[in-house]
Formats: sequence, C-alpha cells, structure tokens
Amino acid sequence: MSPALPPPHPPAAPGVRAEVVVDLAAVRHNVRLLRAAAGSAALMTVVKADAYGHGLLAVAAAAREAGAAWLGVATVEEALALRAAGDDGPLLCWLAAPGQDYDGAVAAGVDVTAYTPAEVREVAAAARRTGVPARLQLKVDTGLSRGGATLPEWDALVAAAREARGAGEVVVTGTWSHLAAADEPDHPATGSQQGVFAAALSRARVLGLAPGLRHLANSAGTLLHPDTRLDLVRCGVATYGRHPAPEVAGPDTGPDTGPGAGLVPVMTVQGRLALTKRIRAGASVSYGHTWTAERDTTVGLVPLGYADGVPRHASSPGAGGHPAEVWVAGRRRPVVGRVCMDQLVVDLGGEELPAGTPYELFGTGHDGAPTALDWARAAGTIDYEVLTRVGGAAGADGRLARRWVDTGWDRTSREDDA
Ligand SMILES: *Cc1c(COP(=O)(O)O)cnc(C)c1O
Repeated sequence: MSPALPPPHPPAAPGVRAEVVVDLAAVRHNVRLLRAAAGSAALMTVVKADAYGHGLLAVAAAAREAGAAWLGVATVEEALALRAAGDDGPLLCWLAAPGQDYDGAVAAGVDVTAYTPAEVREVAAAARRTGVPARLQLKVDTGLSRGGATLPEWDALVAAAREARGAGEVVVTGTWSHLAAADEPDHPATGSQQGVFAAALSRARVLGLAPGLRHLANSAGTLLHPDTRLDLVRCGVATYGRHPAPEVAGPDTGPDTGPGAGLVPVMTVQGRLALTKRIRAGASVSYGHTWTAERDTTVGLVPLGYADGVPRHASSPGAGGHPAEVWVAGRRRPVVGRVCMDQLVVDLGGEELPAGTPYELFGTGHDGAPTALDWARAAGTIDYEVLTRVGGAAGADGRLARRWVDTGWDRTSREDDA
C-alpha cells in the first residue's frame, strides 16, 4: 500500500467558531496499515475514552469495516455503549472498581478482565445471575506496576479462574499484559516484561489453565517490537494517525519511512478567527501581560481555549521555549500571551487579515501546518493527551462541534494501487 495522502479538508464554514473534524477514511487507512504491520497477529483497535476524543461509535464502525477483529475499551460502560449501538464483535474491557456490575457485560458477551481473585468471583457471580458463562481474560502485571497480578499473586488469580471455569461460570479467553516503555526501542523493560509474561503463561499451564489469546503489544510494541505481537495486538494511538514513538519516527508530518510510515492523522481542529486587530509596539496581550509586542503588529483572536481542551501550558513562550502555533492564511502563527478559558491570541505579524479568516489549530500537518504533536511539545505533554482533551471537549456534553467526514479517499488510493 502506498502512503496515500488525504485531500485537504475544506476550511470551517463561515460562522463556525471551532470544530473538530474526524476523517473516517483516515481511520480505515490506519487500521489497514496496522493490520499489515501486525503480521499474523489479530488486530484490536482501542477505542477507549471516546476513541481518544474522535467519537466512539463512528470510529468503531470504521475500524470494523477496515478489518479490526477486536475492539478494546477501558470500562464496562464503554463496552455496553458499543453493544447498544449494535456492535456484536469481539470486544474487551479492562478496568473496574470493586462492586462493578458485570451482568450487562456478561450477558452481552463482552470479554472482561480480572486483575484479582475477588474480580473473578464478581464476574462468576454475574454469570450465575445471567445464566451465561462469562468471557474472562486475566491480566498479568509484568512490570508496569499498574493493573494486573504480579507473579507472586498470579497463582491465586489462576486458581480462582480455574475454579470458576470448573463451575461452568467462566471461559478463559485470554491472558495479557501491558508494556511500560515500548516507545523507547532500547529500553530494557520490554525484554524483561516479555520474560515475566512467558513465566506467567507457563505457570498457568502448569496449574492447568490454558491461557487463550496471549497479548502484550500496544501501538509501539506492534510497530517497534515484532516479538511482542503474539496472538493479538492492541493499537490505540496509531489508529488515530499519531506515531507512538515520535522521537524514533523523526520529523512530524507523518513519518515517511520506517515502522508506522504512512499513518495519517485523523483529527483536525479548525474554525474562523473571531476578530483581528492592530496593536502598537509595547502593547501586552492576554492575562498577566506575559507577552508584549516589540513592534507594531496585527493579532488574531482564536475563539478556543482551555475549556475546549486546549492546554493552558501551551501559552507563550511554551514548554521548552517552543510556542504553540496556529495555521492562518498559509503560515504558522505563534500563540502570544496566555491561553484563556475560551480564547487565545496569535501574532499575525502585521498582515491585515479580516475577521472570519479560517484557522487550523492542528491537523494532518499538510504544507507544514501544526500537528497535535507540535501542540503537545509546546505544552510539555504527549499528543495522546492533546487529542483526548480537545476531542473530549467535543463529546456529547461539550460545547465544541464534532463532525465526521468520509470522502472515501482511502478507497480511491487503494484502487490506484491495484
Ligand atoms: C490504551 C491502551 C492501549 C493502547 O495503547 P496505545 O499506546 O494508544 O496504542 C493498549 N492496551 C491497554 C491496556 C491500554 O490501556
């Protein structure tokens, strides 16, 4: 597959303050790319957190269409939202607090994950109530020290699962773990986690439990560590066209070579400037007057702020001295002064542009325009957080509009390849 590029999005329509545009053709393109990268492993597309801010149901449907065998979410509630929308394919969730109601998930054939014997018993109780054996996966803590059972705790978890299986209450469909540092190619944690995982698998077999699907890899594992792919890979961020290891991938406008080449960013955040104006040398901008114009200039008011998920840490001068930038009239324009709750200001460098001029906060990086990674770097964070915050502000109760577009460009480029 050649690294197809999507056609540029049309700018926001007049009157649109701000919108999140989600390119479903890019989702399908990335899912196909990841299926190919996964080799013989099956692909799970991770759609937790409202598909990293891109919209759970729309992304899930696009991922299934492009051949994602599995979907993955964090919570039972996210899984049930998918079932309610008619998705009846393989689906895993992995995070709950004691007292979680598992009945709906068990009845709907959702795979649930247990970290502890107590969780196995809760799931088994749900199976007794619903009259359906629960699909259960077990999580090993191989060194992330987050969810899952450590090796000393593992035998008890396996024993609880075996007992519930013996009672016909559960079917163990998988055994899995999560990598801590797969985005750093030489980090020793990846190899050591693989070793612990192998030990847990053989211990389960010794104790009489077949592990089911074995899975370990996130996006970074899938792209950078082929021997972590096992039976199934769980790809989140790469689905959304963001490289899980940008420091490895090189310059950010979509790596052109190496693992992950050809991923296309899915989310574009754009709108229309609320206002433009001239300011004089010596005028200071935004709260606290942290930026002062050195010469006469023009500025543009971007009607988006931290209530819309834009990180306030991206206020000038930005983390590490790199200002965040906004694409206006074919150029990057630096944010000046503090990002406010509803708005931020960019320096237009003296250019006279009318109010209502289109802007793009971030998107595909076309023509050198800023990406979510540029915003993340300016704010001292990662692009995962930028997407999830801004996209999340566009969720059901958010005030930001979110629009899904499907121009089908992925299909055209595939035909061209054929
Ligand atoms: C979020 C998550 C993933 C996806 O990670 P990416 O780095 O976005 O690919 C995979 N597995 C688990 C358990 C997760 O929580």
